[in-house]
Amino acid sequence: MLQQIQGLHHVTSIASDPQRNNHFFTKALGMRRVKKTVNFDRPDIYHLYYGDGAGSPGSIVTYFPFPNRTQGSPGTGEVGTTAFTIPIGSLGYWEQRLSDFNAPILGKTNLFGKKRLAFQGPDGDYFALEEAEGTTADPWTGNGVPYLAAIGGFHSVSLRLQKQRATIELLKFMGYQCIAKEGSVQRFAIENGNRANLIDLETLPAVAEAQQGAGSVHHVAFAVEDEAAQKEVQSALKDTGYQVTKVMDRDYFKSIYFRSPGGVLFEVATNAPGFGRDEQPDDLGLALKLPKQHEHLRSQLEQSLQPIID
Ligand code: ZN
Repeated sequence: MLQQIQGLHHVTSIASDPQRNNHFFTKALGMRRVKKTVNFDRPDIYHLYYGDGAGSPGSIVTYFPFPNRTQGSPGTGEVGTTAFTIPIGSLGYWEQRLSDFNAPILGKTNLFGKKRLAFQGPDGDYFALEEAEGTTADPWTGNGVPYLAAIGGFHSVSLRLQKQRATIELLKFMGYQCIAKEGSVQRFAIENGNRANLIDLETLPAVAEAQQGAGSVHHVAFAVEDEAAQKEVQSALKDTGYQVTKVMDRDYFKSIYFRSPGGVLFEVATNAPGFGRDEQPDDLGLALKLPKQHEHLRSQLEQSLQPIID
């Protein structure tokens, strides 16, 4: 069993309009945009990162906004709900705030004895807020969100699967243990991880595969400390029969990717060097940052990328 995985690192999804995406995360949810860059493989498309004040692993949602992209249709083989932790006692505040921002509220649900508020993002993305102890070290109070309600990083993600057995084997190999079951949901946790240490498996044998589009999660990334730990994970996964990519430099972390048996694309990303690599702490996310291989495209991209008004 691997010891290197610390929990979630980031969740990357597809969006349509970048302005609407930016508005939702920074204005409605009050998260911090911690990086404005481009998709390294498609530099004509933004890559927007939102998280806590420090851009901590375990708090980061990232988006590739493809203008005019049609919505995906939910199903199996994908991440179902991305849930964030909020401080105890703040659920009512969020219910009011999300309704003020016209976010579709799907209702209050109960999972493992805890109340959560389920809602949708601008492209039909599935989110939930759940009150929990322990929060990120640096909650961001953007756009008037009070400190005592600020989003404190990920609570969990759910994986919607037709068959769960091989994914359970994989999660156990990665260091997760099943800690609870309720109906069709099994909850897995990693011990001594970061705060984003929960994964819920939803088994839905009769549900068709998802069609990816705007609002769909593209991949879920797990955190490891550094490149040495990542190499160990890469070779252990290869030895187990997984086809794992080479290490890719994403400037703010190094990444490897592999397809999990249930169809969800997994990434393993390093905590280092982080979003402070090319911006001062006070300036995170403000300027358009380009990787050095695309820097020569700057004037062209500044013309062609849709401006984002904060
Ligand atoms: Zn990623």
